[in-house]
Amino acid sequence: MSEVLKEKCGIFGVFGEGMEAARLTYSGLYALQHRGQESSGIVSCDRKRIYEHKRMGLVAHVYTEGAVEALKGDIAIGHNRYSTSKSSSEDHIQPVIRHLRNDDFLALVHNGNLPSVRALENFLQDRQIATGSLNDSEMMAEALKYYLLRGACLEDAIEESSPLFTGAFSLLIMTSDKLIALRDHCGIRPLSVAKLNGGFIFSSETCALDVVDADFIRDVRPGEALVADRNGLNGHQIRESKLRIDSFEFVYFARPDSYIEGRNVNTVRKNLGKILAAEDCVDADIVIPIPDSGIPAALGYAQSSCVPFGEGLIKNRYIHRTFIEPAQRLRDMGVKRKLNPLREELAGKRVVVIDDSIVRGTTAPKIVEMIRKAGAREVHLRISSPPVRFPDFYGIDTPRQDQLMAARYTLEQMKEIIGADSLKFLSYSGLIEAIGLPEENVSTSCFTGNYPVNIQERWSEILLAVT
Ligand code: AMP
Repeated sequence: MSEVLKEKCGIFGVFGEGMEAARLTYSGLYALQHRGQESSGIVSCDRKRIYEHKRMGLVAHVYTEGAVEALKGDIAIGHNRYSTSKSSSEDHIQPVIRHLRNDDFLALVHNGNLPSVRALENFLQDRQIATGSLNDSEMMAEALKYYLLRGACLEDAIEESSPLFTGAFSLLIMTSDKLIALRDHCGIRPLSVAKLNGGFIFSSETCALDVVDADFIRDVRPGEALVADRNGLNGHQIRESKLRIDSFEFVYFARPDSYIEGRNVNTVRKNLGKILAAEDCVDADIVIPIPDSGIPAALGYAQSSCVPFGEGLIKNRYIHRTFIEPAQRLRDMGVKRKLNPLREELAGKRVVVIDDSIVRGTTAPKIVEMIRKAGAREVHLRISSPPVRFPDFYGIDTPRQDQLMAARYTLEQMKEIIGADSLKFLSYSGLIEAIGLPEENVSTSCFTGNYPVNIQERWSEILLAVT
């Protein structure tokens, strides 16, 4: 299953005596909508009973007031899920729930992906636990359940089973009286903790902490199990931390108002644009972003190049990200539905267009054509990240390597296919400089093929030389 089920998700959790945990989680998931638009779910608990609500669709559609009201209790976890494959059926909507003895239960939400589930599969199958229909998140829950049923406390169950979790995971795991956050030893996906009225809030991104007015405490450490229960907040380092936060969070995925490992995403994106301009400045009349993700980089580019910033494309903000369309034909239509050019701004001009990345190469040719049709004299495409030449196995849903434009074509060929007058990408060193974290703390796998968490049997899918 996990071979086809690639997920990029948002998770949120609340532990706090007397708090309306599900209502806060609902607000948090709203702010994390950009991390997953396919389905959403919340599990809550009032120390006696467990309540759940999960559906396909956007947060705004999934929860009615009545549904949120019915999610009682002061502990809750929630999940927004995004996946592209046909296995994106209702069966896999998170939180994953496992019932134990009596009324005990375990619920889990996962952001990330395990490139290999062999260790988990072998462990479960050796114990006669069927794995056939389970995805990676569900197998993790099964391993935890196995230890809990043998009398382990949740902390011990996590310590015993986490060596089987061979991949990228930011997890929130709850039982009737505690909530534990767990991050893989590289901390590939973000996860932060905050306090609110004596309770604790966990979120994939800090933008969702702001929405519920929680006070940021810190990021969950890579390799740490951070326990929130009656005794407060207590961290256990269960594996040595080797931070390798995914650079693609800064490039595209996270919201600009979030802070990841102390770095503001908007500031990083502006830096990406500034460095892009410093590396190669075009003589042009206007620099325009592909909204929304290209906006900060285009502002940065304009600041350091003295080419004036302008809006050249208007986005229909009621359409979700184009990747949501599983078929290529639908993705093609998606670009036109989403963006329309401002002819007055573009006609007769030499235009620099900034986008954050080229993945399959679906968006760029359509946008260049759109800008030319609007009367632009020249179109120079600048990308505020290096070429994506390697697939992602850690949960951000880039496709197989033979579908990645930069893995298939040279820069010159890409320029021709896209139809731009010129095409340039940010350098690798520019990316590292813009993020502002030490190089050894950043994962750049989709640009370099340097995978910090072993991708094991998935290496057979890598067709290009690793840089
Ligand atoms: P493509 O059209 O396939 O080259 O994809 C690149 C465009 O999609 C860029 O405009 C990005 O803003 C956006 N993008 C990049 N990575 C992702 C992703 N993992 N999911 C959804 N959209 C993405």
